[in-house]
Amino acid sequence: AGARVVAWDADEARRSAFAPLPFRGGVGGGASPQGSVPAEAPYPNPSPEGEGLQIAPLDDLTGFDALVVSPGVPLNTHPLAAKARAAGIPVIGDIELFAQARADLPAHKVVGITGTNGKSTTTALIHHILRTAGIPTLMGGNIGLPILAQEPLPAGGVYVLELSSYQVDLTQSLDCDVAVLLNITPDHLDRYDGFESYAASKARLFAMQSPEHEAVIGIGDAASAAIARSLSARGEHLTKIAPGVCMDQRGWPALQGPHNAQNALAAIAAARTLGVSEVDIDRGLAGFTGLPHRMERVAARGGVTFVDDSKATNPESTAPALAAFPRVHWIVGGQPKGDDLDACAPAFGHVVHAYTIGQAGPRFAAILAPHMPVTEAGTLDAAVRAAAAQARPGEVVLLSPACASFDQFRDYEARGAAFRAAVQALPEEGEA
Ligand code: ADP
Repeated sequence: AGARVVAWDADEARRSAFAPLPFRGGVGGGASPQGSVPAEAPYPNPSPEGEGLQIAPLDDLTGFDALVVSPGVPLNTHPLAAKARAAGIPVIGDIELFAQARADLPAHKVVGITGTNGKSTTTALIHHILRTAGIPTLMGGNIGLPILAQEPLPAGGVYVLELSSYQVDLTQSLDCDVAVLLNITPDHLDRYDGFESYAASKARLFAMQSPEHEAVIGIGDAASAAIARSLSARGEHLTKIAPGVCMDQRGWPALQGPHNAQNALAAIAAARTLGVSEVDIDRGLAGFTGLPHRMERVAARGGVTFVDDSKATNPESTAPALAAFPRVHWIVGGQPKGDDLDACAPAFGHVVHAYTIGQAGPRFAAILAPHMPVTEAGTLDAAVRAAAAQARPGEVVLLSPACASFDQFRDYEARGAAFRAAVQALPEEGEA
């Protein structure tokens, strides 16, 4: 208490329900939690109406205890982060403020979930299982409302936090009762010195944990397996999730495909650690309805199913979506994160026809053409029309772009909404 803090996102600070957090520092211009601030930002100092918020010039950070930034701020290139490092003050985010406020909250537990893919699904699933069991719970972090904007839970509650690697980077003292790492594959490398430093950032979640607390790690990739090995060498509490486990997923409509087996196993391990009964875990898995834009069935027309997997923003997350259906009309492309689709290659046999869109369109068309018929559709609307015209009953039209959306859309949600709208705008069945 009494720390001097610079809040970069003034709105966030004012909305905080965890009052009274001692915001007595300066306030910078409004970066949204997910948004990014250009490196050359002029640091405007708007006059805040919030109580207890003071303006300080952001070019001099001496005397401050911390710099609080949104995870959208690239720490590796932003000049203010460099100034904070030079002044020797920690650079932290809202999750760290939450961690520091925990001592004053009613007795509770925290589950933290990180990984390259499957974070949101696993977070929502754990939250859903806990709710099914009647345990007070809320989700926050990289999903839904910021954690500090929500009412604290009553005693016995469980906070379920989705943590992007940027959020882990901005956190120093979050001791999770259960920390989950699903997988580590190349993504977001623009903000790290390389794959090693991206992987190291995920490992920090476990470094912050007390030894008696539980780690749950998917060991399907080399980097995650290495972290699991080092934890078991130190005798930490650890559940390993092996790839290729054969499970009966038929009773879980929103958790199909091998990737969801991993997510479900991680959620089961977390729920068991928290003392949830097997009966409640089963009910939770069966009743989970999934999240929008992740393998979401948006329509069925003339025996053709249209599936929105707009959240698949890299080839590793698209691969399981292709594998989940035997005959796919695949809409792929956008702002590429790499220049290959190697991770998807094992599932190319499932693709009847590909339709490329966006900036990656021409390159992806060249990669795919030796393996399947390809239409360079350019826009999502054109791709949906072309795919709907080609697809036969029993086949699936799948938007699983393996790319970021920013070349053509505001974000992946807008891209998913545009897909749904394009499907709804198709001519009625039987019309010419
Ligand atoms: P995140 O929040 O980490 O981006 P999501 O749960 O939103 O992850 O899923 C994003 C996409 O990644 C989904 O559309 C799905 O195709 C894929 N996916 C989900 N879980 C996994 C997993 N465990 N491993 C690999 N890919 C996954």
